[in-house]
Amino acid sequence: MNFADFYQQSIDNPQTFWAKEAERIDWHKPYNEVLDYSHPPFAKWFVGGETNLCHNAVDRWLKTQSDQPALIAISTETGSEKVYSFAELHREVQRTAAIMQSLGVVKGDRVLIYMPMIAEAAFAMLACARIGAIHSVVFGGFASNSLATRIEDAKPKLIVSVDAGSRNQKRVPYKPLLDAAIELSSHKPRHVLLVDRGLHEMSRVAGRDVDYAQARQHHMDAQVPITWLASDDVSYILYTSGTTGKPKGVQRDVGGHAVALASSMKHIYCGNPGETYFSTSDIGWVVGHSYIVYGPLIAGMATIMYEGLPIYPDAGIWWSIVEKYKVTRMFTAPTAVRVLKKHPTKLMHKYDLSSLKTLYLAGEPLDETTSDWIATALGVPVIDNYWQTETGWPILTIAKGIEDLPTKLGSPGIPVYGYKVKIINESTGDLCGANEKGVVVIEGPLPPGCMQTVYGNDDRFVKTYWTRNNGTLVYSTFDWGIRDEDGYYFILGRTDDVINVAGHRLGTREIEESISSHAQVSEVAVVGVEDKLKGQVAVAFAILKNTALIDTEDKRAAMEKEIMTVVDKHLGSLARPARIHFVTMLPKTRSGKLLRRGLQAICEGRDPGDLTTIEDPASLDQIRAVLKE
Ligand code: ATP
Ligand code: MG
Repeated sequence: MNFADFYQQSIDNPQTFWAKEAERIDWHKPYNEVLDYSHPPFAKWFVGGETNLCHNAVDRWLKTQSDQPALIAISTETGSEKVYSFAELHREVQRTAAIMQSLGVVKGDRVLIYMPMIAEAAFAMLACARIGAIHSVVFGGFASNSLATRIEDAKPKLIVSVDAGSRNQKRVPYKPLLDAAIELSSHKPRHVLLVDRGLHEMSRVAGRDVDYAQARQHHMDAQVPITWLASDDVSYILYTSGTTGKPKGVQRDVGGHAVALASSMKHIYCGNPGETYFSTSDIGWVVGHSYIVYGPLIAGMATIMYEGLPIYPDAGIWWSIVEKYKVTRMFTAPTAVRVLKKHPTKLMHKYDLSSLKTLYLAGEPLDETTSDWIATALGVPVIDNYWQTETGWPILTIAKGIEDLPTKLGSPGIPVYGYKVKIINESTGDLCGANEKGVVVIEGPLPPGCMQTVYGNDDRFVKTYWTRNNGTLVYSTFDWGIRDEDGYYFILGRTDDVINVAGHRLGTREIEESISSHAQVSEVAVVGVEDKLKGQVAVAFAILKNTALIDTEDKRAAMEKEIMTVVDKHLGSLARPARIHFVTMLPKTRSGKLLRRGLQAICEGRDPGDLTTIEDPASLDQIRAVLKE
């Protein structure tokens, strides 16, 4: 079918459209209404229906493919590798569910999961889904403070965790961080269930802490029936990355979520039962929820959980996994590709990659160089997709499963079916014309799978995201974008990444793009820094391809001037950064997002706040050092 028609049906007739997509999952009880939008902006999908995510991800496949791989857990940190068939996954999930029940967890209780990328983390998520407990996975890289605010907000009855994770062959103890977080939080969980990986000693709190392996022994033959849930019951809470402020507890439903994932696995990711899906994200992020755990399994695919770096034991590791498990669809982030790009492609070409059909990238803007490099090296299409924790599945992409439309470099694509994406003028709210920059918004109702509300705070949901724009309720993505004359969208950065220089509003991302166009610049970050005279000025931190070009003070000054001239030419002298500092790394989160808030705070001599998810703290020392020069 042509995509334009498919899309139009989803907009003109959402009831019929989504009723058809809802057939992709099993329903215990049919719904009686596809959509209830009587209390906008709250949308209820598949009202009256009953289903279960764990049933659709696991039990459903027992009839047809119980012996086929479901979960493939690989750790290059501990050198372990284990394949669980659907039948084995079913057994493990029931054991974990039985342990949770024995610890008093019932439907509606929150279970916080603070774990690295190990199979038990997926068991715990699926076990929650099975019994109707609400999971809240907290990224394992977060330290006590961030963890404590999430415990405080979600009020879990149970926390599932481990002795330690491992990163770059170094053991990272989790338990002391968890104990400190529980100490900090006024809410205390009743129990802590601990997987002991034997990586690090841990202390246990009597009466509270429970050993997973021991408890599992008591439930080896556990049969835990599915708890059927109303379509609009809560499946999970996941906090946004907090790149731009206080993290928001994104709350998702059951039925709409399952349908959106099943539908996207078909039309966007083109996955088929029996194939293998490899997403390199982490269960602590939304990609991990949607496209490591639930999505692939709902599609009957085997999914890979990978603990480790993309370059250990060498930069061929991911490709060896693709070969071994005949991965057909792979999902990663531009930042990982940039890391791989620094290594010889022969490490990739050592392996037979003929199973791989498509590579999907998301999470941050995909630049042309990165996209070109990986597309050429792999010889498969590279599909960018733009979305948010809030939506749970792509807003913009090219849905190749419907029509093989061309991609455009620099653009994640066109609006996905179900999403009424618009670009509006920030101050007037009027629709922008072609190539006119504005805010990317989505007209309500949001399609199935998107957030129901901010956990425990409907008011914050409405106030944070929704505005009435010329009579219509719109959801703001807080991203800038443009739509070109062919209908392709381009994301130009976040609306709060705007700086105000002498009364002129400039997007830091535009300045970054201009600087990146200099042939010697490999990466750059621009932030707005307080300035007495101008209000704010732009300050840039650039990584050069060849540091020999700035090995003397004269050369460095000349390079700074040269780059400033480029910005002058593109954007005018107003946008010219006050300083261009040269560094060899930039402060980023483990998910590859630039820590602008932190960068800006350091430039302004303020406390950078919580930077516990930083990839490499040494990058901050570099920033401080160059600022002193
Ligand atoms: P917070 O909302 O707490 O500040 P966050 O926005 O970083 O955190 P996520 O929901 O993980 O948390 O990230 C979504 C954002 O990432 C998008 O709004 C957009 O800015 C950016 N993004 C995601 N995918 C793409 C993409 N393909 N191209 C460009 N930007 C992207
Ligand atoms: Mg966000």
